[in-house]
Amino acid sequence: MNAETLLLKGCRFVLLCAGCKPLVDTSILVSNGVIEYVGDNPPSGSKTGYVIECGEHSVAMPCMYNAHTHAAMSVLRGYYSDAELHDWLQAMWFVEHRLSSREAFLGSLVSGIEMLFSGTCGFMDMYFFPDEAAEAARRLGLRARVGPVIMGDVDPYRAVEEARRYARKLLGDPLVGGAINVHSIYAAPLEAIREGHRAAVELGVPFHIHVSETRREVYEAKKRYGVFPVELLGKLGALSENTVLVHAGWIASWELGLVKEKGASLVHCPASNMKLATAGHFPLYEAMESGINVALGTDGPASNDSLNMFSEMKIAVLLQRHSYWDTRVKARHVLRAATTGSAGAMMLPRGAGTLQPGAPGDIVVVNGVTPSALPLRRDNLEQVLVYSCEKCTPDYVAINGRLVLSPEKKPQLLEEAARAAKQLNEFIERIGPGKEPEPPCSPRIACRGD
Ligand SMILES: [Zn+2]
Repeated sequence: MNAETLLLKGCRFVLLCAGCKPLVDTSILVSNGVIEYVGDNPPSGSKTGYVIECGEHSVAMPCMYNAHTHAAMSVLRGYYSDAELHDWLQAMWFVEHRLSSREAFLGSLVSGIEMLFSGTCGFMDMYFFPDEAAEAARRLGLRARVGPVIMGDVDPYRAVEEARRYARKLLGDPLVGGAINVHSIYAAPLEAIREGHRAAVELGVPFHIHVSETRREVYEAKKRYGVFPVELLGKLGALSENTVLVHAGWIASWELGLVKEKGASLVHCPASNMKLATAGHFPLYEAMESGINVALGTDGPASNDSLNMFSEMKIAVLLQRHSYWDTRVKARHVLRAATTGSAGAMMLPRGAGTLQPGAPGDIVVVNGVTPSALPLRRDNLEQVLVYSCEKCTPDYVAINGRLVLSPEKKPQLLEEAARAAKQLNEFIERIGPGKEPEPPCSPRIACRGD
């Protein structure tokens, strides 16, 4: 068997991209990690590699990518669920002060398995213990963008140097790349933002930051610096095509203009924003219409509390319609955000988020016989994927041309998730409930108090 090629044969529907007209009874050939052919007559010789019969009710679609998460936080799922952001953060910090690399790995593993089981092929992570997130991603064959988070009382230059060193060592890795993660304007030194962004541009990796998440953040920025948060990033020289701004629920119209001018990406995290009651309004329609790259993310498993991008797409449309009082945001907008939008923010290879020839071999094959997704037709396919597919579990997921989820692999992965969860529960029972007023400092090597 030639492991270099993967042929998905006879897929009932194939959606090449968000907004593309679905193809019927189509095959997809992946060679050396790249989609080589899509059509009804695969080139001769392609049947000698790994061949999968998609099945009569199958839907092959582009992978979704989760453009903002804190994967290890599945350890904190349901730990302190019913509180507003700043109160909630103190409960998170209590656990995070006590967390070890072991829990971070197990939490990332549980999250990674959840992502695979819901059609997500990669994630951009912001958390302590980036090695453990990377290890979990590699074990599962997922794409990831990882890096130490810069937050708390750190020496900004040492912190950025550590983040730069970390991102540099991942250069050239086909699946796991670096990101410069600075928590926010309120939980990290401004100099770390300026220097961190410079490092991201230098290394060609995303500069990933939470911004304008709450009204309080905007109010305090205005009081302290005389400008709004995104404006402040502009003044620090931290807006560019590498910049990924997460949340932006309280972004002002003139700030949106700045984002557009500098070519930065925005990430919408609707479920987390509603669960933590941060309110505001993410201007998805204006941003997309003006040509800004808009991505979709779930945020961490303790503020959502799910990493299911099918659900996130539906929630995004519902929240947008609730905010706009009309239906201008359509299924295709959020499907685009979850696929090519997130891929763009994560700086994935060209074509990621589509199944066009030349794109990376990242493919999800959903079994269309999921009761909530029936009846499925060519003309309602995109609507079903966005509005009715939160229970859809892929039969197959290929990433970079490698099959990482299949019916044969599922039982073992579920067993692994259950084993990891048992150990995470033992940890939570051992430490119990509590709150800490200060965030942990990260990366440790740069902490001033140490
Ligand atoms: Zn977040």
